[in-house]
Amino acid sequence: MIAEPPASGLPPEPGGGRIGETQGTIGEGGLRLWLYPREVTGRFTRSRHKVAWALMILYLGLPWLHWRGDSLVRVDWYGRKVIALGHAFWVQDIPIFLPAFFSFVLLAFLGTARLGRIWCGWACPQTVFLQFLFAPIEKAIEGKSSVRKARDAGPADFAWLWRKVAKHAAFALVAAWIANSALAYFWGTRNLLYAMAHPSAENWPGLALVIAFAAVFYYVFAFFREQACILICPYARFQSVLVDEDTSVIAYDSARGERRGKGPRGSREGLGDCTDCRQCVLVCPTGIDIRMGQQLECIGCARCIDACDRTMTAWKKPVGLVRYASLRDLQGKPRSGKPWRLFAYAALALIMASASAILLARRPAVAHDLLRRGQSPYVRVGADSVLNTFTLHLRNNGSERLILMLGWDGAARGTSNWEGRSFALASGQSLDLPVDLTTPASGFIRGGADAGLVLSAPGVREEIDIRLAGPWGR
Ligand code: SF4
Ligand code: SF4
Repeated sequence: MIAEPPASGLPPEPGGGRIGETQGTIGEGGLRLWLYPREVTGRFTRSRHKVAWALMILYLGLPWLHWRGDSLVRVDWYGRKVIALGHAFWVQDIPIFLPAFFSFVLLAFLGTARLGRIWCGWACPQTVFLQFLFAPIEKAIEGKSSVRKARDAGPADFAWLWRKVAKHAAFALVAAWIANSALAYFWGTRNLLYAMAHPSAENWPGLALVIAFAAVFYYVFAFFREQACILICPYARFQSVLVDEDTSVIAYDSARGERRGKGPRGSREGLGDCTDCRQCVLVCPTGIDIRMGQQLECIGCARCIDACDRTMTAWKKPVGLVRYASLRDLQGKPRSGKPWRLFAYAALALIMASASAILLARRPAVAHDLLRRGQSPYVRVGADSVLNTFTLHLRNNGSERLILMLGWDGAARGTSNWEGRSFALASGQSLDLPVDLTTPASGFIRGGADAGLVLSAPGVREEIDIRLAGPWGR
């Protein structure tokens, strides 16, 4: 049968609507249509499978890797620090990473401007876990999509029920596993294993967190699914302002495909290459028809490319009717000049990343903040002396335990009754040290005097400049 194009010239859409007027998962009366994306194989699916498993191993395995007694990467919520590769990073280090964050954002812009939603389709944890972990479990228990669809439409008999119970039990277990792995990024695997091995009454807040996390993951992967990409994902909202006519997105070559129609294999007189088999629609995890053009719901998963390539191969036609292509490619035009916008993103990202690298290289082994303590700037001690009180906040940024010596620098030695002290500071540890300095009142000029402390250890020397407060006149 040959589908007649409507009077508007737009290709016909199964739902009868137009781009932007319908949403693939909303049916009559606004009710959600449950999707049964058909299984697909092909070169992109195989590649995505490899990438997905590598990423899942990375996402779930990273907290189990240890370095010098702690997780390789851990967010220490209570200690207000991040541990990475044995080094501690504190709230005070945020300025170091701000340029790196902007660099990451710019690289995301660059990737989107060049390859559309490559992140969503290939690397986003939502897509990776849903399509390559939960979907295979669902298929193993309930069968392939056509079987599931038929069974869901039939009576709720025992065969339907036990499969549903088994599937949701398996989903709950996997969700709990992901939740524990997510929490391991905060607690560290040692604390996690300790909590698992001991009665939950000893750690009920932790148990409550695991249950809450697991419940969210279970709901998202068992029920919410593609709606997360369609309705919630903020990236989907602004990607349309980043793509242009040179961006390679997953696209249907309508010039080659239209006029679509089934038609006999031998004589496709007046028809394009699209056989209207709808395989590209049936495999789509967000329920859209790529032949309608670029849509917000498209997560760039390339399943429709594999599905269409199979059809093209079966019909002995060249593959690539649906493919990665820019608007200019589809129109047969060359790329537009030099991609200045991409160069600008790349250059700015490089500058920002370099700024972070420089700041990181200059980060001291031991960081300090000196804060005044008490309610007045100074206190008179007897007739001749002035007391300044401080709190010295120290942070060991390195991966080694340090024995530190805090003393006056050479110039100021002997002008105070404070003789310094030595103390240990473990890797990733912070310490608040009271520093009370009594100095002769005669040393102050117009209410101030400069002094300096030195923090030293083998290979470490940090100078701490201090402005002491004192009497205005001698
Ligand atoms: S249209 Fe194609 S690339 Fe986009 S979500 Fe559907 S199957 Fe994936
Ligand atoms: S899979 Fe290819 S041939 Fe089949 S309907 Fe989609 S675009 Fe047309």
